[in-house]
Amino acid sequence: MKEKLEEIQTQGLKEIENANSISELQEVRKNLTGKKSELSKVLKSLGSLSLDERKEIGIKTTEIKNIFLDKLKEKEDMIVASKKVLDEPIDLTLPGTKINRGTLHPITQMCYDLNDAFLSLGFEVFSEDDISSEKFAFDNLNFAPDHPARQMMDTYWLEGTEDKAANERLCLRPHLTGASVRYLLKHGAPARFVYPGRVYRNEDIDSGHERAFFQYEALIVDKDMSFSSGMVMIQTILEKVFGREIKVRMREGFFPFVEPGYEIDMECLVCGGKGCKVCKHNGWLEIMPGGVIHPNVLKSAGLDPDEWTGFYVNIGLERLVMMRYGVDDIRLFHSADLRFLDQFK
Ligand SMILES: [Zn+2]
Repeated sequence: MKEKLEEIQTQGLKEIENANSISELQEVRKNLTGKKSELSKVLKSLGSLSLDERKEIGIKTTEIKNIFLDKLKEKEDMIVASKKVLDEPIDLTLPGTKINRGTLHPITQMCYDLNDAFLSLGFEVFSEDDISSEKFAFDNLNFAPDHPARQMMDTYWLEGTEDKAANERLCLRPHLTGASVRYLLKHGAPARFVYPGRVYRNEDIDSGHERAFFQYEALIVDKDMSFSSGMVMIQTILEKVFGREIKVRMREGFFPFVEPGYEIDMECLVCGGKGCKVCKHNGWLEIMPGGVIHPNVLKSAGLDPDEWTGFYVNIGLERLVMMRYGVDDIRLFHSADLRFLDQFK
């Protein structure tokens, strides 16, 4: 029996020595000191022995168990002390993980660039709410009562106000021009200001049209203003935004709030004037309708048309951005697709 106990001790100490992790050590502890261990089996088999022998073997067994427990504790301390803080070696000189930073949307950037250009010419930046009314969207601006733009086809009227009129008939602003009268009523003339913002139209969406898009309108009101000073302003703005000479042409255009009205086209920079789907294959793109402010609009703003004159330009921001970067589909700007937007960082 004694030899058996010595063998158990020798074997047990070897197992403790060979354990290399806390989990292995726990397994060894269970095997050596648990209910099913060899030591427990020895104690259970003492029944056939004399009292003295039982006592002797019992003491010896307890001794061995205590030796095991001491050695287990010693080994555990050793493993814990030798354990590395990090599983992998670390190189503190390596560059860190790159933080994905956001950037201004190309339309916002274009808007800021235009603000800078206009501010440098002495303009003020003005903004108003996206919800407008029939009075400001149409009545003030010399739109005939039966003008098709007033119909559901083009304008988003707000539910519950469709059968009302003027100030009480509300809509998502279909253009920015209403803001010009609001500004003039508040600040009077002379005035030069820009008013950027989102506008809403009930349009069929294609590569050149969106239901919500940005506009950027500018208005100068003054006495004795010449048409040519307006042209100089437009050229100055385009040169500032594109940083080079741009081919532009002017055509007659009709808008209710101007007289005369015009359309300014610029040569399509996506195709270089050869024709593509953005410019509807004619090499030119309408970017800026405008004209001399209509006398009826001046009257709506409380100004005397015999005393004051002025003119509008209305810049399609998306189209300018498309020209700036050669983007051929307007829908990309509102797609929230990071693969597209990341290119403008
Ligand atoms: Zn083109």
